[in-house]
Amino acid sequence: MDIFKRKNRIYVPVITEEIAKETLIRCSSCGRLINYKDLKNNLNVCPYCGHHFRMSIQERINLLTDTDTFKAINSDIEPLDVLNFYDGAYYKNQLAKVRQETGFNSALITGKAKIDGVDVAIGAFSFEFIGGSLGFTEGEKIVKLFTYAKKNQLPVVVKFSSGGERIQEGVFSMLQIVRIIQAVDVFKEDGGLFISILTNPVYGGASAIGMLGQFVFAEKDAMIGLTSPRITQLAFGMNFSRELQSAEKLLENGFLDGVFERKDLKSTISKVLKIYTNRSLI
Ligand SMILES: [Zn+2]
Repeated sequence: MDIFKRKNRIYVPVITEEIAKETLIRCSSCGRLINYKDLKNNLNVCPYCGHHFRMSIQERINLLTDTDTFKAINSDIEPLDVLNFYDGAYYKNQLAKVRQETGFNSALITGKAKIDGVDVAIGAFSFEFIGGSLGFTEGEKIVKLFTYAKKNQLPVVVKFSSGGERIQEGVFSMLQIVRIIQAVDVFKEDGGLFISILTNPVYGGASAIGMLGQFVFAEKDAMIGLTSPRITQLAFGMNFSRELQSAEKLLENGFLDGVFERKDLKSTISKVLKIYTNRSLI
């Protein structure tokens, strides 16, 4: 299929601090040139038009949690290549490369942290790791995160950013959706709170899992749906409006509980956590 033969893969450029000091970035929304330092000082948001650029996983953790409170858990779970998958390149080689580049074993970082003083179990998808796709390792880590939160009576906050299932793991990737839904159900039935944050983009199974939160928030400029417009075009030859998958449209249609600018995300989650922790026994 053409989907597997995509020649022009998009990689997020790695800009070192050295280069960055003198680098100008062109905003993909308004076209204005922004000094890299100004962009970083503004939470990766365009100071001219408010467009939200992607953040690194470390920046995300720093944005959402109290300083120095994040402690990673289950970071040693290794990815699997059960199918010995090859699509012009071996998956195992791709995994080795991305693990070396990012320093992570998977597209999902999980841990415990504090948000405005409230203890939480937290997970965040990194789009830098094979497009934040959902494979066995990511499924295993989410299940373990909810199990850990249940055992320790902690609310769960997960930041989603995913291109969908990891095609290199085939049906093993699809199966993770079932496992995760079951783990989330058990957690919620036990009175647990799950806050979901959807950031650009969230596609495939991740979008379905993201919708399971009792509170589902999205960041401004997030695109959310089952498949991206590009995949829909390749697979079915169909074009449909990007606006239909915008966070703002989903909020209008009742799928989300709120769409917020990046600077307001932590304070919004904090309000929910404080109400929850005062009401419950934990
Ligand atoms: Zn702009």
